[in-house]
Amino acid sequence: MKLRLGALALLACAGGAFAQPATPPTPDSLVAAAKRLAGTDFAGSFARICVAPDNLTARTPGAGRGAATAPRPTPDRATWYAKPYKVFDNLYWVGTRIHNSWALKTSKGIIIIDTLYDYAVEPEIVNGLKALKLDPKQIKYVIISHAHGDHDQGTALLQSRFGARVVMGAPDWDSTLARPATATGGVPTRGASDISVGPEGAQLVLGDTTVNIVFTPGHTVGTLSLIFPVKDHGRPLTVAYSGGTAFNFPRVAQNFQIYEDSQKKIAAAAAAAGATVLLSNHTEFDGAWDRVRAAQVPRAKGEPHPFEVGAAAIGRYFEMTADCAQAQRLSMQ
Ligand SMILES: [Zn+2]
Repeated sequence: MKLRLGALALLACAGGAFAQPATPPTPDSLVAAAKRLAGTDFAGSFARICVAPDNLTARTPGAGRGAATAPRPTPDRATWYAKPYKVFDNLYWVGTRIHNSWALKTSKGIIIIDTLYDYAVEPEIVNGLKALKLDPKQIKYVIISHAHGDHDQGTALLQSRFGARVVMGAPDWDSTLARPATATGGVPTRGASDISVGPEGAQLVLGDTTVNIVFTPGHTVGTLSLIFPVKDHGRPLTVAYSGGTAFNFPRVAQNFQIYEDSQKKIAAAAAAAGATVLLSNHTEFDGAWDRVRAAQVPRAKGEPHPFEVGAAAIGRYFEMTADCAQAQRLSMQ
């Protein structure tokens, strides 16, 4: 009996330990927490931003992916080309093995989310839609998650050829319009029917579909993340689309704070919307290159869609990205 009481006392003590005020986080404790949150399913994002992030070295921030204007040779097609796939009832993948582009089909036309490098827009998006029996002339809107070449170089072509309206974060529109006319892929024009999204966000309604656009600066100053509905064999699901991930912005504490705040903002929006599907714009972050193909395989009754990670995992994901940003910010103090 005494022993039993002792065990209870020990339990009570252990329980009490959790009630102690948490010790202030350190870069190391935050990276360790982020590693736990990432698990094995989000290891790609964790590696990219918590392990030697891109802006750790003195290399010009934003150079690589950010520079949309520098001419570069087209990489060997065998390294990037991917077949297009129907992934949900109303969502089609027209990306490369490295970058995602999605076609969201509505009752009044198609919304393209991100447009890849210039060399990929024709084979992947234009020809991909045709292969999927979708008409590229039905592209009504192009949403650019952020103005880096790997996501926006195809925009000018879709705008000029099909009359698509372009949706971008207002600051990213400004940096896009500052590009020289000779920029790779050309420069989209901002007309009265195009949309500049400010800090308040926006709702894009096309036919039966509403895309909730959440302003999430950090990766770029005008990064946009999205919440939108899809259907899986008639079952409605909600997608959270993370618009920018890597730390290739100038290494300034305030930038990490802005990034961290945005991760909390999109996490809250995703939770409020009941999002259970996580998409990103790089296949290394959301496993799209594997998942789009897994989605082609028949599933057992009740088996979730390969992209359906659940609300808890989405919470884990954005807590991880926020922790990685906070770790970098604290490491600079
Ligand atoms: Zn980027």
